[in-house]
Amino acid sequence: MEPQEFQHYLGKYAQLIVEFGINVQPGQTVVLQARVNQYPLARLIVKEAYAKGASEVVVNWEDDFIQKETLLHADEKVIGEVPEDVMLQGKRLLAKGASRINLVSSAPDAYAGVPQERLALFQQATNKKLAGFRNAAQANKVCWNLSGAASPEWAAKVFPELPAAEQVPALWDEIFKTTRIYTPDSIAAWRHHRDILVAKAQELNAEQFNALHFTAEGTDLVVGLPKNHFWDAASSTSVSGVNFMANMPTEEVFTAPDAQRVDGIVKSTKPLSYLGTIIEGITLTFKDGAVVAGHAEKGDEVLQSLLQVDEGSRRLGEVALVPDESPISQSNITFYTTLFDENASNHLALGAAYAFNLQGGEKMKEEELIAAGLNRSQVHVDFMIGSPNTNIDGVRADGTRVPLFRNGNWAVTE
Ligand code: ZN
Ligand code: ZN
Repeated sequence: MEPQEFQHYLGKYAQLIVEFGINVQPGQTVVLQARVNQYPLARLIVKEAYAKGASEVVVNWEDDFIQKETLLHADEKVIGEVPEDVMLQGKRLLAKGASRINLVSSAPDAYAGVPQERLALFQQATNKKLAGFRNAAQANKVCWNLSGAASPEWAAKVFPELPAAEQVPALWDEIFKTTRIYTPDSIAAWRHHRDILVAKAQELNAEQFNALHFTAEGTDLVVGLPKNHFWDAASSTSVSGVNFMANMPTEEVFTAPDAQRVDGIVKSTKPLSYLGTIIEGITLTFKDGAVVAGHAEKGDEVLQSLLQVDEGSRRLGEVALVPDESPISQSNITFYTTLFDENASNHLALGAAYAFNLQGGEKMKEEELIAAGLNRSQVHVDFMIGSPNTNIDGVRADGTRVPLFRNGNWAVTE
């Protein structure tokens, strides 16, 4: 691709993120989280946000090299603590109802080699720093968007077989394909895509299954669904009525499981990058909603520490359906980042459920959400369980079954 052409598509991408991703409203504050090597895209996003009437765009720069040096060598106290001024800034932005864009570009194993105890401290500090935003986001009080941006480190992991000079362009090409940037009117294409997913979610909402039964190689799992659970698709609407797209790309419809009614065994089908470590070959056994045995062939230490974060990190907070014929699945590329890989595959998440996955959940208190069966936790970590041989039955309250997925794809209904 010629540099000028690339610049054109990057501009379209920035516009999509601002106009459709967070759907910036006049007078709004926008927070942009970006790695320093993504400055060309960050500049375009800032420009676009002001052009759409944003009153303030705050850019938080990060760098994985510096972060890793900090994790390796800084005083433990520094790693485990969130300075007061950082907490205050978070509060100030939250009070303004700031929208948030996060550009995902890190290498999946950016922090490989950092001792587990130091990573755990960092995780605690990060959870504390983000708790306010996470609660607001899970209740749809703010608009937010996660989008990908190709970095040399990430691209090298995704395309190790390509010469170094071709890796970053190849990853950008995949990002542009999966976010519909090559279509003449990307935003119109996204609206159409959104409508299809929303229709699927509506069908499932009308059914109100009591449980889903997953079977595949190594998997035989019944996931209970709470009464009045709500299937959501790509698109979200904030409590102030602004329509936004939290993830780009997205191919999923998802809801909250009943955190007390998950039983059986499940095997992951794709690697998962968590805290800069790759976790592979996860097997989890559930009883009454909780993991009673868990193991990973690779990255087991990190999995064990995840399962011990809190009571909720051993229970499920999301069940998502993605057909195997989705474009990301068909690309057969492992992106080593949840944002992309979750859209290639059915997935579950350990940790917090989204309040909006229960009818009226946004307005409920924590105790009410828990009573309804929704999981609460400091974490939310997706792992992929889809495969071409996955079958799923929807189980109704009277025990009758409806085929939902056959051989990895939506079962054809008559
Ligand atoms: Zn998901
Ligand atoms: Zn998730």
